[in-house]
Amino acid sequence: MLDHLSFTAPQPKVIAGARGDWELVIGLEVHAQIASKAKLFSGASTEFGAEPNSNVSFVDAAMPGMLPVINEFCVAQAVRTGLGLKAAINLRSAFDRKNYFYPDLPQGYQISQLYHPIVGEGEVIVDMGPGIARRVRIERIHMEQDAGKSIHDMDPDMSFVDLNRTGVALMEIVSRPDIRGPEEASAYVAKLRQIMRYLGTCDGNMQNGNLRADVNVSVCKPGDYERFQETGDFSHLGTRCEIKNMNSLRFIQAAIDHEARRQIAILEDGGSIVQETRLYDPDRGETRSMRSKEEAHDYRYFPDPDLLPLDIEQAWVDAIAGDMPELPDEKKARFVKEMGLSEYDAGVLTADVENANYFEAVAQGRDGKAAANWVINELFGRLNKEGLTIETSPISAAQLGGVIDLIGKGEISGKIAKELFEIIWTEGGDPAGIVEARGMKQVTDIGAIEAVVDQIIAANPAQVEKARANPKLAGWFVGQVLKASGGKANPAAVNQLVAKKLQL
Ligand code: ADP
Ligand code: MG
Repeated sequence: MLDHLSFTAPQPKVIAGARGDWELVIGLEVHAQIASKAKLFSGASTEFGAEPNSNVSFVDAAMPGMLPVINEFCVAQAVRTGLGLKAAINLRSAFDRKNYFYPDLPQGYQISQLYHPIVGEGEVIVDMGPGIARRVRIERIHMEQDAGKSIHDMDPDMSFVDLNRTGVALMEIVSRPDIRGPEEASAYVAKLRQIMRYLGTCDGNMQNGNLRADVNVSVCKPGDYERFQETGDFSHLGTRCEIKNMNSLRFIQAAIDHEARRQIAILEDGGSIVQETRLYDPDRGETRSMRSKEEAHDYRYFPDPDLLPLDIEQAWVDAIAGDMPELPDEKKARFVKEMGLSEYDAGVLTADVENANYFEAVAQGRDGKAAANWVINELFGRLNKEGLTIETSPISAAQLGGVIDLIGKGEISGKIAKELFEIIWTEGGDPAGIVEARGMKQVTDIGAIEAVVDQIIAANPAQVEKARANPKLAGWFVGQVLKASGGKANPAAVNQLVAKKLQL
């Protein structure tokens, strides 16, 4: 159904330096919180916003002798994500300890999967405009624990710690350095977010930190990237810096742009880039050094002796694969093909899974184009204006569908439909019931319309002369009749009658 080959790759972003052009090379490590009620190795709740330290089991608090127990649902979620990214699923994976001290990680190490991740190579197609897309390869996805939260601004003398988040399951999704510009980087994160929301494996809430990205940036001269691609030899690329913990699409773009320019300035000055971890400061719009980059061996990784290697069965993976929802690219293609929607409208309707579900409920058994028109132009327009979302929409899919049905049956005109929409928006209620009770039905009774037409023609002899001389002016009568009928006269019938009565 999907023709992933029928797009062209966008041009890489080029920054002109004082000594020629530079290109950007970007790879992302995205941390996505797995949507799950319980943590990765304990039964404690993952509820956001709970009373501090209320969702902490003995395992999360690292009490001596406590043992982690893998949460099967989290594993299934990681597998589902891998399948959604068309990735290889590794039937055997294993957990390793990454040793470091954080006040909000009481174990003194993070359980992660360095050597044997659960998911191997996959890909994400990132749309960059009509017919233009970037294929970004996924290197791996591994599961790991999140840390808790240290709070330094509650007291002048003390710091506090909230362990609610400690041990919550994360997926780290590592891309190849296939991203070639700031817009592509944010579009890539947006696409990952979209796919995971469709899959129900991560809610994608960036404000709450449920989706955040470490952004690796380097710069090179034109031609270097192609040499890297041919040989797989990273020495053709520049040294990278990593910008940690970005949780805003806008800041990702700004940080990459700033970081690339910083590196170019150093290189053109004859200096060299030091591989390090940097932080983005949105207030100043710049990145600054946080620490020099650690190597894997700095963490003294070793297989976690508390956890056996994770063996999953192909049949279990197949069952998950058999239960996958339709993904955004497929849904979009179907809306275009089966409902005749434009690429643009299909893109708008599938951008978010909640919107897509709402639209599908409206379109079910109705004309897709009419449904798209009402959802995009009337509903989304109105929601935007009021700062609401589809989840908080005062009009349900059933109600909007009811409005469209009344138009389809010729019971109300498009103009009355908009009034009806307004009434339902503010007062709620059943569309057909409201139309009935308030006498909003369109008048298709020719006799009734005829009387109004006659009346208006009789009252405006001068206009009649003009219209007879220039039939285009008959529209004035149509308008008058519609107005006199309170918008309830059937416009097609009025048109016909006016032409007939004026003898045009
Ligand atoms: P580490 O384990 O040190 O974090 P990885 O090899 O896992 O390093 O790479 C981390 C991320 O950095 C990956 O997303 C990768 O694509 C990206 N990356 C690697 N080299 C470069 C480079 N030269 N420029 C930009 N990104 C890079
Ligand atoms: Mg890494």
